[in-house]
Amino acid sequence: MPDEKKLSLQDLSEKELMTLLSGYPTFRVGQVYLAAMQNKEYGQMTNLPKDIIAFLSERYNDVAVKIHKVFEGKDGTEKYLFLLGDGNIIEGVFMPHNYGNTLCVSTQVGCRMGCAFCASTLNGLVRNLTAGEILGQVLAVNVRQGGTLKNRAVTNVVLMGSGEPLDNYDEVTKFLQLISYEKGINISLRNISLSTCGLVDKIRLLADSGLTVTLTISLHAPTDEIREIIMPVDKKYKIAEVLDAARYYFAKTGRRVLIEYSLIEGVNSSIGDAKKLARLLHGFSCHVNLINLNRVEERKLKGVDKATVDAFMRTLTECGISNTLRRSMGNDIGGACGQLRRKHIGEEGTN
Ligand code: SAH
Repeated sequence: MPDEKKLSLQDLSEKELMTLLSGYPTFRVGQVYLAAMQNKEYGQMTNLPKDIIAFLSERYNDVAVKIHKVFEGKDGTEKYLFLLGDGNIIEGVFMPHNYGNTLCVSTQVGCRMGCAFCASTLNGLVRNLTAGEILGQVLAVNVRQGGTLKNRAVTNVVLMGSGEPLDNYDEVTKFLQLISYEKGINISLRNISLSTCGLVDKIRLLADSGLTVTLTISLHAPTDEIREIIMPVDKKYKIAEVLDAARYYFAKTGRRVLIEYSLIEGVNSSIGDAKKLARLLHGFSCHVNLINLNRVEERKLKGVDKATVDAFMRTLTECGISNTLRRSMGNDIGGACGQLRRKHIGEEGTN
């Protein structure tokens, strides 16, 4: 376990809590676990005796993250800045849909993958989040949105905030166990998407882990020549290897893989690029999620016009590749990865 001081009760499984509280009556474990999953602070745990609160608070924080700022979008979207125990800031987005509500969470403070279009990576990686800090984002927003553990306001989670989830493999897989635990918030792994820039070894490890989330591959290019310009990870793992690992994931889990593809003007968005992409994905049970690039101030890259989006989609469809355009929600409040945190750091000079 990392430095205990940094951890919160939300980092602990019920079993770990049981070990920690072995000197207390067993029913107290259930009470503490429930309070942690309800995102209660120590002051709100009124059913617990003072000696247990003192014992716990000496060793662990109560909640892992605090909602520091909320930006409300017109479409019901809410964007959050979360404050961590050590003063770092991360961001997340809540998106209501007719089938349920999705929360996009961060897995690292910053990121070291260096993608040319992404704001999260501009200052590199600061640190990994702990499992409890990833879970804490979900628990905090669930309460804010009026949800309970039985009647959840957050029904779906995507690991698409700042960070590369598979670069923080151990904490992310622990998070997947915690979030799907039956006595906790119990969000099914089927309702969780893990998005990766393509860390091949870790995709295979995840496939073998039995944690059957929906895997999303951020591909963004039909050839290695294009991909290595916008995604440095391509120098290590070529597209063919990434797709092989994705096929392995599908074979092991039976879960259809999603391919994320951001359309960037003059880089990857021509009809020729669409045809190459279709050839690449031919015969693979996947679905392409297109998104028009969100402009990031510090980056020169920009998105494409509607005619280019339409032509790209039509070409994919004609080639038999299922695809949809991801609604770009919360555009009015800094919808793209890492933008809000960047702005915040700029304004308040904090990290
Ligand atoms: N590191 C992971 C998850 C975080 S990013 C990954 O690479 O998948 C979540 C998604 O948003 C990725 O597909 C990423 O490529 C995409 N993205 C990042 N910046 C973007 C931008 N400015 N416009 C559109 N999509 C962006």
